[in-house]
Amino acid sequence: MAEEAVIGIDLGTTNSEVAIYHQGRVTVIPDADGRKILPSFVGVAEDGSLLVGEEARNQYIVFPERTIRSIKRRMGESASVQMADQSYLPQEVSAIILKRLKAIAEAHLGQPVRKAVITVPAYFSDAQRQATREAGEIAGLDVLRMINEPTAAALVYEAGKQEGKKILVYDLGGGTFDVSVVRIEQGVVEVISSHGNNHLGGDDFDEKIVSHLLAQLEAVHGVDATTDPRAMARLRRAAEMAKRSLSDHPYARIEEEYLLEYKGKPVHLSLELSRDDYEEMIMPFIDQTLDAVHIALNGAKLTTSAVESILLVGGATRTPLVVRRLEEIFGMRPRGEVDPDLCVAMGAAIQAASVQGQDVSAVLVDVTPYTFGVSALGELYGMPSADLFVPVIHKNSPIPTHKSEVFYTVVENQSRVEVRIFQGENKDVRKNRLIGEFLVEGLSRAPENSPVVLRMDLDLDGLLHVSATEKRTGMSKRVTINDALKHLDAAAMAEARIRLDGLFGENDDESVADARTAGGHQEGVMVQALIEKAERMLEQASSDDQEEMINLIEEIRQALEDQDHGSIKELCEALSEILFYMET
Ligand code: AMP
Repeated sequence: MAEEAVIGIDLGTTNSEVAIYHQGRVTVIPDADGRKILPSFVGVAEDGSLLVGEEARNQYIVFPERTIRSIKRRMGESASVQMADQSYLPQEVSAIILKRLKAIAEAHLGQPVRKAVITVPAYFSDAQRQATREAGEIAGLDVLRMINEPTAAALVYEAGKQEGKKILVYDLGGGTFDVSVVRIEQGVVEVISSHGNNHLGGDDFDEKIVSHLLAQLEAVHGVDATTDPRAMARLRRAAEMAKRSLSDHPYARIEEEYLLEYKGKPVHLSLELSRDDYEEMIMPFIDQTLDAVHIALNGAKLTTSAVESILLVGGATRTPLVVRRLEEIFGMRPRGEVDPDLCVAMGAAIQAASVQGQDVSAVLVDVTPYTFGVSALGELYGMPSADLFVPVIHKNSPIPTHKSEVFYTVVENQSRVEVRIFQGENKDVRKNRLIGEFLVEGLSRAPENSPVVLRMDLDLDGLLHVSATEKRTGMSKRVTINDALKHLDAAAMAEARIRLDGLFGENDDESVADARTAGGHQEGVMVQALIEKAERMLEQASSDDQEEMINLIEEIRQALEDQDHGSIKELCEALSEILFYMET
């Protein structure tokens, strides 16, 4: 990187990240161990050495007096905080985190870094912003800009967009919730209104699960685990893991052997939590966030229908209930395709590049441009049907990804289930592409409504592994579909990027559908189809045509790689012409 690097930093309450923009790609910079997320913890080890991130977090449970967490909540206050008998100003503690992020960036880039853009919550006061700037200076960073977190998120999704657009940014982190209405006008992003709760987040969800586990321990073993700090720490960890797992799977198993001793005997915890039960537990929290959404909308004098896009930020937005409820209210699917933990840092990096005068109109990310799902019984066109499409992996999910959903047998003693796997967007599977099917036979003749868990794993090479597991017996059958992303080879990947121009730019199903059906010269899937067709017809072409076709195919692939939209169109037209001429 020749020019001086300007990094983007998300200085978060629970986690912080650093990112850099280079040639259309935003990279969230990993540390030497490959970790992209730095827990916002600072501590002093037993030997007096400074701990930052994971190591500091690990010692927090045992040595809280030597560890500081959530310093962001204290920014702007003049009172200092204690750590191992020393007192520090909040900006000094934040500076330690910033300094570590700076060092991570320097190690990755192999050059000194002196300049940064740092994000702050939209609700931060002048004093809090000033303290953040000072933290940057203490860390040896020239803070070129401080931008609001929702602005950063909007930049990731909408970089380079000129037209006016109203966006809702829903940010649910570990311990804080913010919702902002953001307007983009002529490339300028502005927060119109903002509302939130400084003490609401994914950690509350963990606590609900912990209470459930405690109740279980009480009921089954008659033991109160709250007095045992070690057991509590293990329960918290298990609860968080179960919570994360429930975002992707319908059930989570919680197994904690030798959790504690009671009356001289070891107590083991073993239970299963269903997503349905979990959702019931967290519903009141989600309702609170939705109340805040309405307050923010009122503040911006907007109705739900005026919102054109909803962006998800913060790790806890991976909770399917969040997505579902927002979808119900707004009638559109919120966008969470950019890793919600990294999105704000990425936006800061985009802003950093823009401050330097770089063109940031196209940002790229690897996502699946298709939805994958299965057929199921349900209502279609107002009638019961076996052709209802149930999406499992949604389009625009970053890949690799895995998801599972639970389905139920429909008749008593059902001995087999036929799984049909489709790629597409239509509610009617017959209008989607069948990409595989298999039969699960020998089910345990259970009563109707017995759960069968269907899991899909999609990797970067386009392999889709699908398994169906009878929950009662664990009996499982799986298939691998090699060509799940048949169209998603290098060329289609490039297509996905083009289509998602500026990190997905237009998220308009109609226009995508149009592009797919508008003929061989359109970018995207049709380009790939055109290339495949040309390759098939090569043999029957005259040697002159052959040469021309091979050249054109090469050039189209190059243009796709370069995202040269104009050339793609022109070259495809030329290739179509030859094919047309050969066919007639
Ligand atoms: P953040 O403060 O944005 O880093 O968000 C952290 C919160 O997101 C924590 O409460 C995490 O437990 C939560 N989180 C992370 N991954 C998931 C997931 N897959 N499903 C639900 N919550 C998650």
